[in-house]
Amino acid sequence: MNLQNVLDNFQTFNNFARNERNGGINRIAFTHPERLAALKFSMLCQKAGLDVYFDFFGNVIARREGKDPSLKPVVLGSHIDTVKDGGQYDGLLGVLAALEVIEHLNAHQIETDHPIIVIAFACEESTRFNEATLGSKYLTGKMTKNDMKHIKDNEGNILYDVVEPLSQDMHGKAALFERNQIKAFLELHIEQGPILEKNDKDIGIVTDIAAPHRFKLSIQGVTSHSGSTPMPMRIDALTASSEIILSIESIGQAYHDQGIVTTVGYANVYPNTMNAIPGEVTLLIDIRGKDLAVREQVVTEIQQQIQTITQKRKTVYHLEDLGQDDPRSFNHKMAQITEQSCLQSDYSFRYMYSGAGHDAMNFAPICPTSMIFIPCKKGISHSPEESVTEQQIAKGIQVYIDTTIELAKLETILED
Ligand SMILES: [Zn+2]
Repeated sequence: MNLQNVLDNFQTFNNFARNERNGGINRIAFTHPERLAALKFSMLCQKAGLDVYFDFFGNVIARREGKDPSLKPVVLGSHIDTVKDGGQYDGLLGVLAALEVIEHLNAHQIETDHPIIVIAFACEESTRFNEATLGSKYLTGKMTKNDMKHIKDNEGNILYDVVEPLSQDMHGKAALFERNQIKAFLELHIEQGPILEKNDKDIGIVTDIAAPHRFKLSIQGVTSHSGSTPMPMRIDALTASSEIILSIESIGQAYHDQGIVTTVGYANVYPNTMNAIPGEVTLLIDIRGKDLAVREQVVTEIQQQIQTITQKRKTVYHLEDLGQDDPRSFNHKMAQITEQSCLQSDYSFRYMYSGAGHDAMNFAPICPTSMIFIPCKKGISHSPEESVTEQQIAKGIQVYIDTTIELAKLETILED
């Protein structure tokens, strides 16, 4: 592995996307810096001898031929976009690491049995269109061109109208990404959480990916004068909400060891003034888990608590279901191969699940899929403070290279 080459690439990509005021990286989906990065990446792939094209959505897809071109490809990749004022490694690590796998194979003149495809996904972050992993959803058939006509960004621009003028849509090659057309999908990513660092591990082998079920809760009380309404006569929507928020937290804590996290991340209080009893509160509730049945059990308990508390406090509520995604399990055989790669290099590792969503979750239903995590400082991500050491990057890429070489062998069979 040529670590210096990887570090230089990080500099190149981040230097023209950096907000000089706070150090944050800005490659927001389909803006100039993000498209420039995709173009730059496509040129590096071309230089590495790959057959490169952009699909309609602006994903960069680059293929290195195998001994037998008719075999299913091993697919590597991650996303090239960032959140607003994001970090230097989220997404870009997996993109540059995938390229380094190719550079390593080239430098050692390794010819793999299966072809290898490297992808830089567009629009993984929900920053602009309020929906995540759109590039991989398009590639795996979960989002059609027609669906794009119904998705808008924060300024009302329609996704299809943003994408279409930029698109190349070469030869309809994206049809490759259908069920059973890929041997394996493997993504390297920073953990974006504190577990690896806290446990002093080099590598996380991801077994499952959690998914959210989200709700909007409106609670109606009675707005009245804070001075002239006696305590027993109040119907306070904010104190009722407070009790609900605490109960959502304690239900999450009770299910913590089963991989549940519960969050109320938004509250809107009306009239939100010092001298009036709050008459209305709106909360946004995010419930995540890696096991669908456990998560839905938690949803039921939260719904019961909302009913009990609002009844006791004589408030009225309306609970709106904002939708849910399915948790995904990854391929066991691929995890074992990654474990072998760690043992071979004497790196410490642990099996874990991902609390955050990633492009890999869209591949799990159509092909054997896995993810590799490396630690990041204090688990901080989506922030200019995001930090990873050179050594952590080197270990992650080494495992990525070794796992990919094993996956691309004809004799490696992945069925669970
Ligand atoms: Zn990411």
